[in-house]
Amino acid sequence: MSRTRTYRCLNCLEHTVSREFDTSHLSVTCPNCESFERFVNEAVYRQFRAFEESPPTEIDWERLDRTERLVVAERIARSTKTIEDFAVVESNGDGNGAEDGDGNGAEDGDGNGAEDGDENADDPAEAPTPE
Ligand SMILES: [Zn+2]
Repeated sequence: MSRTRTYRCLNCLEHTVSREFDTSHLSVTCPNCESFERFVNEAVYRQFRAFEESPPTEIDWERLDRTERLVVAERIARSTKTIEDFAVVESNGDGNGAEDGDGNGAEDGDGNGAEDGDENADDPAEAPTPE
């Protein structure tokens, strides 16, 4: 009667264990690796494999390491999130770094400098330039 879930060792990807509860992953000692490893829900692993075979175009799958790929697969398999949600999360993460650094720097520096300079330069330049 009880439904069991299969969890796969992320280290050897060979050993699986069955549990009666449903969670995204669990950490147990793998008898195959003989180390304390993360076992991932088989549904998550299937999603991971599917993405490995045909990477989603919405995110830069190739750039992710295995852990990140599994996180994406886990979220997809375990929730109602779509791949588009990750594209947003991805660009937010990347964007913030670039924005805080480049954005502020460029804005304060180039922005003010270029604006003041161009405006002044444009006015006299506009009139005498025939082209
Ligand atoms: Zn193992």
